[in-house]
Amino acid sequence: MLALSGYPLGLRFVFVDPVPNAPGGQIAEQIVADYADAAAHARLAECDVVTYEFESVPEAAAQKLAERVLVLPPPSALATAQDRLSEKRCFQKLGVPTAPFAPVSTLPELERAVADIGLPAVLKTRRLGYDGKGQFVLRKPEDVALAWAELGGVSLLLEGFVRFERELSLLGVRGKDGSTVFYPLVENHHRDGILRVTWAPAPNVTPELQARAEHYSQLLLDKLDYVGVLALELFELGGDLYANEMAPRVHNSGHFSIEGAETSQFENHLRAVLGLPLGATAVREPCAMLNLVGALPQPESVLEVPGAHLHFYGKAPRPGRKVGHITVTAPTRAELEARVARLSTLPGAV
Ligand code: AMP
Repeated sequence: MLALSGYPLGLRFVFVDPVPNAPGGQIAEQIVADYADAAAHARLAECDVVTYEFESVPEAAAQKLAERVLVLPPPSALATAQDRLSEKRCFQKLGVPTAPFAPVSTLPELERAVADIGLPAVLKTRRLGYDGKGQFVLRKPEDVALAWAELGGVSLLLEGFVRFERELSLLGVRGKDGSTVFYPLVENHHRDGILRVTWAPAPNVTPELQARAEHYSQLLLDKLDYVGVLALELFELGGDLYANEMAPRVHNSGHFSIEGAETSQFENHLRAVLGLPLGATAVREPCAMLNLVGALPQPESVLEVPGAHLHFYGKAPRPGRKVGHITVTAPTRAELEARVARLSTLPGAV
């Protein structure tokens, strides 16, 4: 999606992905190699700029590459976001509210953290968690041993459980010159830890709530000396926002922006890392994004819905795997809901 948004700007792309025939490799040159591979780095060093849309690229590999070629967002921002503890500490230092949290690496530490934070609570692996993987919700004291049996042995973080009313995210973009733009807050719905539907803009967002979210994002963007798109995932509760996590990349909750916004997150990410002026972020009309997970619908059944746009990623369907998405727009929220209801019956979107 980055490449597709960059071609009209006259850009060319080289992708590194260890998996052969990855989505990027279907539309541009792909180097099938590990992220730390020396030959891959030599090829990337010929580029004007290197970026990532996968946050588990090892920090050391990104740092090494940054000695030879401009790498944006800065690898230090990648490092902060890769470790849930450093991420939460960064939020805390900047005064961005979060659930209470404590690092855990032994069972007695877990017991102490549960005593301090209380139940329910969520135990998470500090690294490499995504789509709800590497998480355990503790509801009663007996769950401590079960959670430890499942996740113990690696560095963990215990977080207080936020009884949120809804999940929102904010996409912020910072340019090389420090200028910033923000998309309207969007509302995200997950199932089994996987994002299924995003509503853009999120309904019932006051200007104050939008301003608060932008303030938190601005603090992070400036602190990290960030360049590119940064996604901030938030819980809303009682009119307050609590930061859950940030993603130093274009984000699934921003996919709506391809058809739904004046400038897509992908184009704005490229504009940022290339030092070009950032584009307008207004949402054109009410919009929703439905992820296609584990299965693909017949294209006809999507395209016959007015305002619907189909994105297949060229990935083989497997249970729990995101293999595409649908964006749908409508002149009114009521019409949008009707279109989403229709699309929600299709394979992959159910
Ligand atoms: P994460 O991988 O941290 O984004 O978590 C995946 C999902 O688990 C989130 O989108 C929430 O729905 C839920 N979740 C994570 N952390 C918490 C928390 N501290 N309190 C309540 N729900 C949570």
